[in-house]
Amino acid sequence: MAIGRMYIDGQWVESHTGKMREIINPFNQEVIATVTEGDEKDSKLAIQAARTAFDKGDWATTPASERGKIVQAIANLIRRDKEELAKLESLDTGKTIIESYADMDDIANVFQYFAGLADKNGGEVIQSPIPDSESRVVREPVGVCGQISPWNYPLLQASWKLAPALVAGNTLIAKPSEITPLTTIKVFELMEEAGVPKGVVNLVLGPGHTVGAELSNSLDVDLISFTGGIETGKKIMQAASSNVKKIALELGGKNPNIIFADADFDTAVDQALNAVFFHAGQVCSAGSRLLVEESIHDRFVDAVVKQAKKIKLGNGFDEDTQSGPLISAEHREKIEGYVEIAKQEGAKLVLGGKRPEAPELQDGFFYEPTIFTDCTSDMRIVQEEVFGPILTIEKFSTTEEVITKANDTIYGLAGAVWSKDIEKAEMVASRLRMGTVWINDFHPYFAQAPWGGFKQSGFGRELGHIGLEEYTEVKHIFRNKKPQPVGWFV
Ligand code: NAD
Repeated sequence: MAIGRMYIDGQWVESHTGKMREIINPFNQEVIATVTEGDEKDSKLAIQAARTAFDKGDWATTPASERGKIVQAIANLIRRDKEELAKLESLDTGKTIIESYADMDDIANVFQYFAGLADKNGGEVIQSPIPDSESRVVREPVGVCGQISPWNYPLLQASWKLAPALVAGNTLIAKPSEITPLTTIKVFELMEEAGVPKGVVNLVLGPGHTVGAELSNSLDVDLISFTGGIETGKKIMQAASSNVKKIALELGGKNPNIIFADADFDTAVDQALNAVFFHAGQVCSAGSRLLVEESIHDRFVDAVVKQAKKIKLGNGFDEDTQSGPLISAEHREKIEGYVEIAKQEGAKLVLGGKRPEAPELQDGFFYEPTIFTDCTSDMRIVQEEVFGPILTIEKFSTTEEVITKANDTIYGLAGAVWSKDIEKAEMVASRLRMGTVWINDFHPYFAQAPWGGFKQSGFGRELGHIGLEEYTEVKHIFRNKKPQPVGWFV
């Protein structure tokens, strides 16, 4: 089995410690790869390489159209190797292969989208109020970027950071989650093949508290972009104050899915399942809080429970599998803890609440789709991100009440509203304090539209034009065309 290595200054290297980590398939706990395990010293080397490449190399001054061509080449290579990448992602995360194929399409589209924007990110000429002068606003790269990503969408989340940073002329150090590094390693091979110059992209592998923390602490890193949990996000924000880095934080969510009585019933039921149980609920924007109007509540709950009972858990590589395992034993234990809390809080368990009994699922970290009714806003199960296949259902009777309930968490990542009354749906959408609101749908996201959170779901945006701007500094250049003495101090 080949060893996964770090990529520092154009070389594939192992950690100076010689430490290794086994990467586990969460479906059966088999070892699928061995990768080198770095520490702070490896991170420092990678930061140094990125610093030198930015300060002394010519990536930042390479014409943007040329950078765009290289980023487009990366998109093409991802499409070429889609099958291999999708298999690696499913082995590493347990997600279904169909989902991984879709992820790879999305990832190639992200590189392609930003490649297309490369030479369209020009500045502007300002109408200067001062005679005989010229005033321009230009966009320049930020510098050295640290990019830390999570395990749930390993390559997708990394791609949202890699593509815009490269296109804007930055150099970078990427740190994937230590438990799901395989597709990111592979894409670094593709970036090398595409011709990204030495030192521009660097990859470090290892735990967050060493390898990752070095990126957020370092005085030589100019920007840190982080996707992950809220507690880690807070630590990164503190560490980033060391040199007042630019920061973007994409944190968790506790996303409401609001169903009015006049919604298309069957579609709303179907999508409510997809909203929460897709990828075993390990989605930052999962619709884990279902808010149903009183008059249809009981019928809606019955329909959701009936459908959820049929969800087929299994090996992500089997055609009929609809959901794979959770990522790890520890993560399953965390979810089990939340289920116990919910029961103690008085939520009514109407489905699941346990590990499946099927013999073929015993080696994986499976958990049954779980539904609680009679939930209220003051419960921890309604307030805190569980990040698993757990749905809470609340009842509402007025539009004002549901808006208040939907907004009543510390998070503000995403939410959805279902109604045939478009005026009402639009009004609710405008009142939800969230970075993304879907009307009569759940989950769509694409490279062209921005993604990010309000409130404690973070700040900064990825994707869309604004996702590129995050990786630029704005500079005003003023030129006096007829310089003359001011005469103030004569
Ligand atoms: P996590 O916070 O545990 O880890 C994320 C990354 O941070 C990993 O690479 C980890 O090694 C690193 N890390 C950990 N401690 C660190 C430290 N002290 N300094 C620097 N880096 C450190 O999150 P996770 O469990 O991997 O991912 C799940 C979380 O990610 C969920 O909360 C989910 O909502 C969130 N998420 C958010 C979005 C979004 O777009 N908002 C997308 C995907 C996932």
